[in-house]
Order: sequence, then structure tokens, then C-alpha cells
Amino acid sequence: MTATSISLYLHIPFCKHRCAYCDFNTYTSLLDLREAYAEGLVTELAQVAGEARWPAHTIFFGGGTPSLMSPASLGRILDGVRAYFALAADAEVTMEANPGTVDLDYLTAVHQAGINRISFGVQSVIPSELALLEREHDFATVVEAVQMARQAGLDNFNLDLIYGMPGQTLPSWEQSLRAVLDLDPAHLSLYCLTIEPGTPMQRWLLNGRIQPPDPDLAADQYELACALLAEHGYDHYEISNWAKPGKACEHNLTYWRNGDYLGLGAGAHGHAAGVRYHIVKQPRVYLRRLQESTVPGYPLSTAVAESHAVSRNEAISDTIMTQLRLLNEGLDLAAFEAKFGQSVAEIYDGTLDQMLAWELVGVQDGRLRLTQKGWFLSNQVFYRFMLDEAS
Ligand code: SF4
Repeated sequence: MTATSISLYLHIPFCKHRCAYCDFNTYTSLLDLREAYAEGLVTELAQVAGEARWPAHTIFFGGGTPSLMSPASLGRILDGVRAYFALAADAEVTMEANPGTVDLDYLTAVHQAGINRISFGVQSVIPSELALLEREHDFATVVEAVQMARQAGLDNFNLDLIYGMPGQTLPSWEQSLRAVLDLDPAHLSLYCLTIEPGTPMQRWLLNGRIQPPDPDLAADQYELACALLAEHGYDHYEISNWAKPGKACEHNLTYWRNGDYLGLGAGAHGHAAGVRYHIVKQPRVYLRRLQESTVPGYPLSTAVAESHAVSRNEAISDTIMTQLRLLNEGLDLAAFEAKFGQSVAEIYDGTLDQMLAWELVGVQDGRLRLTQKGWFLSNQVFYRFMLDEAS
């Protein structure tokens, strides 16, 4: 990987069914568009890259449900990446998958097409919790999917779990954690449920069908996970992510180091060459917009919905808030000062002293990091590091 190497996020906006808590950009009635959509992504790759053949070192197919795409379509998109970008020979190429949508032939075929890391949305092993989330798989399906992934040569896999959900208890959470640990994943992502506006789950909350999640219980669940995963040899390298040594997600590290990544596909967000942008959300509109002939130039395609140059203040806030997420790495204070011409202490004046006095952050070896106390209050720390966007 070179210093200028980028990451590519490719959004696949299709699902068979919408889960009760989901507010992702995904559609359940557009499965017929899948092949045209794969061609659209190839068109967008060509538009964005232009003549440059930028070096790239990670690709991430997120969704939606990328495992609803045929191996041929995924292969076609990956051929497009190789044609228009200088993809590193050892590039990390991840796809998200729903456990119930894969079999051995499928996993073997996507591995042959170039996928070398897989992320399964497990969420829970408890039937009543999976039912509340309206997930369509059960844990037996997860176990089978993991076995098949290994057989197909995809042994670098992540499992996602959700805590902080209504009705979940500390023992039921521990049961989910221990069950996924038995599968010996390379990587675990643990997310606290947020009940998003407009979702069925929010309606259930408003009409009293479910009780609001208890934030103190969620904190206890997080603490339990930290202890249990440390015991099992996982490195807690990001607030919500744990990895076996050498198995951190390279793609997400690009986000957390505030590096350059391209977001392609309906509703994707990107940050590259000092520009933040997002793509139109509706897949049909996306495909139509890609027919336009006036290409804005790197990093934008004709399907961009909004873009803006990142202001100095935005870059400062983004740098601190993303890098503090990395619990071991933290923020390199000298590199920050060299980049922005001022130290964190100069820019934030009393705020940094206050964070240090409250023991939410600490400085060691020239790096600013969240303390363990800060892990639990990270959103409040980040809020204090946000600057007005005007430069
Ligand atoms: S599978 Fe994921 S993206 Fe699809 S509806 Fe469920 S939560 Fe949303």
C-alpha cells in the first residue's frame, strides 16, 4: 500500500425483507435491477477513476445484502475495479452477507471472484431477540454458514452482534457472545442498537409494544464484552471492534484514520481529495443519472447528490473524532500539528484540559487516546471536539 492508496466502498441496496430496526438505504422490491445495477457500478468506477488508475488497497461491498448479488455480478464489478484502479495484489476485499443467503457453491464462487473476507450479520443467537429484530435466520444457519465459509477458503470472517436491545438481558447477551466466540471468528463487531426514526421498532416503542432500552444495562453489556473478548485474545482496537492479532479490518481503518475512500452505488458516502459527497439514494435514479455525459471528475461521478470541499475546521474535527475511535493508535499529536499548523491544545484551549481532568482522554507517547472511562462516554467526548464548520 502506498501513502496515496484509497479504499472503495460499494453499496448494494437490495434486501429480501426489511428488518424492524433498519434505516439503511435498501429496497425489497428492486431485486430485478441487480444485473443492471452491477453494470451501473462499473460505469461509475470508470467515471470516477478517469485516466488516473488510482492505487487502491481495500474494497468493501456493504448493504443492503451484497450476498444477494450473483458471483458473476460481483466478479464483473471486481473486474471493473481492476480495470480502472491499480488494485494491490494483497488487497482486502470484504463482502457483507446474511447467513441464510449463502451456500458452499456460492461462497466458493465469490472467493474465486476475488472476495477474501466476509462479514456475517449474526446480531444475536437468541430466537426471541432475532424475532424482535425481524432477522430471517436462526443461529444454526450461522454455524452452517461459518463452516461453509471456512470450507470455501474464507476463514477471515467477521461476525456482527447487537446489544442494548429491548428485552435483552446480561445473561442472554453473554450467551450470544460465548456462542459466537465458539466459532472462533477473526473479527467481531458489537453495535449498540439505536432505534431510528421511521422504523417499525420506533413505532413499537411509541405504542408501548416494547420498552425503551436501558442505557445502564447497555453499558454493563459493553463492559462484559470487553472483559470476555480480552480473555479470548481479541484486541479491542476500535470502540465497537475487536480482532485477532493482525486481523483488524483494513477498510474500516481507512475511515478511522480519516483517509481517502470512494463511496460508489446508491446512497454511498465518500471522502477523497478534500471533498465529502454522497450519491443519490434511489437505485433507479442512480442508474439514470449515470447516463449523463458531463462527468464532474475525481472523486465524483454523474450520480452525486451533494458534495462540498472539506473546510479546515471540518477536517480538524473529523481527524480527532475518527482517530480517537482507535483505542490503541489514538491521535498522533505531532502529526496533527504538522498537518494543521496548530496543536490540539491551541485549537481547543480549555476543552482539552477539561477532557484530561475528567479522565476521558489521556496523553502518552505523544498520542491522545480515549481512556477506559472515555470508551463509555465517547459520543460526549466527540461532541466537545466538534468545531463550527466555517473555516
Ligand atoms: S439485512 Fe441489513 S440492510 Fe437488509 S433490512 Fe436487514 S438490517 Fe437492513
